[in-house]
Amino acid sequence: MADPFDLTVIGSGPGGYVCAVRAAQLGLKVAVVEKWPTFGGTCLNIGCIPSKALLHATELFEEATHNFDRLGIDIDGPRLNLEQMMAHKDDVVASNTSGIEYLFKKNKITAFQGIGTIAGPGKVIVTPESGAPQEIEAKAIVIASGSVSTPLPGIETDEDRIVTSTGALSLGKVPENLLVIGAGVIGLELGSVWARLGAKVTVVEFLDRILPGMDGEVAKQFQRMLSKQGFTFKLGTKVTAIDMGEKGLVAHLESASGGSDETLEADVALVSIGRRPFTEGLGLDTVGIEIDGRGRIKTDGHYQTNVQGIYAIGDVISGPMLAHKAEDEGVALAEILAGQAGHVNYGVIPGVVYTNPEIAAIGKTEEDLKAEGVPYKIGKFPFTANGRAKAMLATQGFVKLLADARTDRVLGAHIVGKNAGEMIHEIAVLMEFSGSAEDLARTCHAHPTLSEAVREAALACGLGAIHI
Ligand SMILES: Cc1cc2nc3c(=O)[nH]c(=O)nc-3n(C[C@H](O)[C@H](O)[C@H](O)COP(=O)(O)OP(=O)(O)OC[C@H]3O[C@@H](n4cnc5c(N)ncnc54)[C@H](O)[C@@H]3O)c2cc1C
Repeated sequence: MADPFDLTVIGSGPGGYVCAVRAAQLGLKVAVVEKWPTFGGTCLNIGCIPSKALLHATELFEEATHNFDRLGIDIDGPRLNLEQMMAHKDDVVASNTSGIEYLFKKNKITAFQGIGTIAGPGKVIVTPESGAPQEIEAKAIVIASGSVSTPLPGIETDEDRIVTSTGALSLGKVPENLLVIGAGVIGLELGSVWARLGAKVTVVEFLDRILPGMDGEVAKQFQRMLSKQGFTFKLGTKVTAIDMGEKGLVAHLESASGGSDETLEADVALVSIGRRPFTEGLGLDTVGIEIDGRGRIKTDGHYQTNVQGIYAIGDVISGPMLAHKAEDEGVALAEILAGQAGHVNYGVIPGVVYTNPEIAAIGKTEEDLKAEGVPYKIGKFPFTANGRAKAMLATQGFVKLLADARTDRVLGAHIVGKNAGEMIHEIAVLMEFSGSAEDLARTCHAHPTLSEAVREAALACGLGAIHI
């Protein structure tokens, strides 16, 4: 048998591939096992990347439909070429996944194609789709097997008419009526894609609010903006069954508190009620790896499971199911395995909703601070008072900064607005360095930029905003 690897990573999503690359850069001999034909996991194949390709294309389509005339660009109205839009998405996916193949070669990482099953500490059996299984040995094993869509009891998805996010990324035609079950990030992003192309979107959510976990004020205002874009929301409501008729789907809705039945017709239903950790086929029982009540692999502060030498990162462990969280854990773990001090600051992980306008959040919400009894102050600034936003016809939204009332230290930020997902990072850096609102307020910002609204929100925390 060949020399053992220092590290075998199961799964090549953002957690797994980044861990493998950093470990190889630090001198470790690394293998990656991936069951799909392409690398990059959920994120590159059926998640972040294809959804953003469609969100970008449809945002331009909508701009051309509604805003071009105000800018003095007269066109006859854009015509949708859905086949080409999907081809663009597929090209973007292919270019990204082949980029990971390149990184593996460049860093001399050995890739195995097949299902990786842990047969014992240091032993992984790789079972390819065809051909004989192969055993590989490694000093350490990293599980980065990710997550899958959470099913809705009683409702079967067929990825054609009743779809998960995967089917919603590849619909063959624009549905007339799209039912989105679940008002989380994925439901609102993919709902936006199809709404911009003409679908009438109804979002049914069990809770009495959209975007659970995000700042309540942001969620409320954003719901109004989406309603203006044509979304219908049925909050505090659950879907109990869907009948598949020849003409279309009939969804049965019930109030979350019970009673008051109604039905809703749709051509396509998207089940987007969340994601759950994926651990099937890993052989967790063989080695006795513990999971928690929500199916997540339990790890210690160094990402080690209860079995020595077996680690886990990304969506399959606790924490937000985000690609950059998985990546950061991948880097931290590679550094720990190479004898360095890897670390992730879970207090400073941005979250972005790539709708129009975008939402970006970092750190504490007002609800968090209230629950923790931390005295705080709020600095707010609307994009209606920002010159660049006016020039771009992008005046929707605001920046909301939360700072400690005693020390002025920035504790959280919530932005609704064009390019919010890019703007949040100056606050991330500030928070990593425990900066204050005044530090941000006294930092010169280029004019005219949307980022000036971030500075104005910081000014509004104490010194006073200038432009409002
Ligand atoms: C529609 C959609 C949009 C999203 N958009 C965003 C976004 O904009 N930003 C963001 O941060 N996050 C987004 N996410 C979430 C993001 O995709 C995940 O958080 C991220 O992919 C998790 O990375 P991971 O490495 O833990 O797992 P994954 O990316 O899920 O990768 C796991 C990999 O492991 C492989 N695997 C599993 N078991 C085995 C086995 N036994 N043997 C071999 N291989 C195995 C799988 O085939 C897969 O390739 C989105 C998700 C979806 C579905």
